[in-house]
Amino acid sequence: MKVITDQFLKTEIEMGCMKKVVIIGGGIAGMAVAKTLVDAKINAEITVITQNPHYISGPSRPLALTNEQSLDRIVRGYEEVMRKGVRIITGTVYSVDPDNRKVKYVGGHISSGGTSELAYDYLLLAPGVALDGSGIMGYDKFRHNVLNVYDPGRVHLLKSKVWSAERGTVVVYAPKAPYRCAPAPTETALLIDTVLRHRGVRNRFKIVHIDANDKTQPPVIADVVSQIYAKQGIELVVNQEIVEIGENEVVTKSGERYRYDILALLEPNRAPKFIEEAGLGKTWIDVRSPQDLRHPKYDDVLAAGDAAGLPFPKNQEIAFESALFAANKILEMEGSSYRASVQYAFVGWAYVGNPEGRLESLSVRFGLDFTSQPPKPSKDPEPKRDYTLAKDNWEQNYLATLFGYKP
Ligand SMILES: Cc1cc2nc3c(=O)[nH]c(=O)nc-3n(C[C@H](O)[C@H](O)[C@H](O)COP(=O)(O)OP(=O)(O)OC[C@H]3O[C@@H](n4cnc5c(N)ncnc54)[C@H](O)[C@@H]3O)c2cc1C
Repeated sequence: MKVITDQFLKTEIEMGCMKKVVIIGGGIAGMAVAKTLVDAKINAEITVITQNPHYISGPSRPLALTNEQSLDRIVRGYEEVMRKGVRIITGTVYSVDPDNRKVKYVGGHISSGGTSELAYDYLLLAPGVALDGSGIMGYDKFRHNVLNVYDPGRVHLLKSKVWSAERGTVVVYAPKAPYRCAPAPTETALLIDTVLRHRGVRNRFKIVHIDANDKTQPPVIADVVSQIYAKQGIELVVNQEIVEIGENEVVTKSGERYRYDILALLEPNRAPKFIEEAGLGKTWIDVRSPQDLRHPKYDDVLAAGDAAGLPFPKNQEIAFESALFAANKILEMEGSSYRASVQYAFVGWAYVGNPEGRLESLSVRFGLDFTSQPPKPSKDPEPKRDYTLAKDNWEQNYLATLFGYKP
C-alpha cells in the first residue's frame, strides 16, 4: 500500500489531481468508508475528523456490569489506519457549510488546538448519535442520577452502584425507537438482575423496565424477553414515556410515578445538532434512499451509520452496510469500477444475563433480512452461552478489520 506523505499530498492537491474526502466520525461507519476507499485505491486525500484519539466499541459495553468485559479489550487507536495513508484529526465538528463545502471544528492536535476548518470535495457524515435528554423535565438538575450502559463513564458508575447497593428499586428505561442498539435496555435489566443474584441480594430489589414503545425492542425477540422477565421477576411497563425526572422518582406522560434508587435511563437519540443547523436533516440526516446515501440537496454530502435517516434499526451491521453503500456511491461518482459487496441484513445477539446469577451471560440470537419484502425476521429463542462468545468474536473481528490490529 502506498504511504502518502504530507508533501506528496500537498503537491497532488495543489495540482488539482486529488479529491478531498472528509469523513466526520471515526466510528464504525466512518472507518468503514475510509477502509473501502483505501481498498479501492481511490486517488483522494481521505481525512477523518473525530472527537477522541481512540474509539471505544459499543456492543459488549453492557458486559462491564458483570465484569465480563474490560475496557482494554474494546478500545482502539487510529495509528494503524494512519499508517495506511488516512489522515486522522482529533477534533469536534461544530458546523458544516454545505453550500461552500466547509467543515469547522474545534480541537485538533495539541500544537494547533483552537478552531480550524477543512474544505472538501466529498463529505461523509458519520457522527453516530447524540443522547438528548433536553425534552425531559428535571433532566438538567438530576442528570447526575441518569446512568446507562451507553457511556463508558456512566456504565462504570452504574456497575459500582449495582455491586454495592443493599436494597431498593432499579428503574431501566428505553425511549421511543429508533435508538442505538435496540436490545441494550433489556440487556441492562437482565445483567443487573444477574449481578444482584450473584451477590445474593436479588430479593431485596425491585427491577422495573419502563418502555416508551409498545413492546421491548427489537420486536422480534420481545416475546422471549417478556418470558425471561416473568421468570426473573422483572416488572415490564410498556407505552410509557418518561417526561420528568426528580431526585428519587420519574414521571411518565400519563402521570404514573415510579420511585427509583438506581436509574438506568437511555435518553432519546438524535443526530448531533450541527446537522440540523446546517439544514441537513432534523432528527436524523436526510438521505435519498438506503442505497443512495447522498443528501437530497447535495450530491457531495453523504451520510452513513446511526445518524443517517434509514428505515432500519440502528446497529453496527446496518451502520457498516450503509457505509459500504456510501463508499460505493463516492467510487461511482469518481468513475472507479471498484465496489464493496453489500446488502442490508443483520444477525445480532442480545445478552439475557444468567438466571442463576453466574457471571457467565447467555444470549439470544435474532436477525432481520431486508433483502426480502416484508423483511424476514429470524431468531433462536433458546438462550445460549455460545451466542455470547459468538458476539465477542464478531465484535473483535470488526475492530480488527476497521482499526487494523488485534491486541
Ligand atoms: C452500549 C452499546 C451497545 C451496543 N450493542 C450493539 C449490539 O449488540 N449489536 C450491534 O450491532 N450494535 C450495537 N451497538 C450499536 C453500534 O455500536 C452502533 O450502531 C455503531 O457504532 C454505529 O456506528 P456509527 O459509525 O454510526 O457511530 P459510532 O461508532 O458511534 O461512531 C461515531 C463517531 O463519531 C464521533 N463524533 C460524534 N460527534 C462528532 C463531532 N461533532 N465531531 C467529530 N466526531 C464526532 C464519535 O466520537 C464516534 O467516534 C451498541 C452501542 C452501544 C453504545
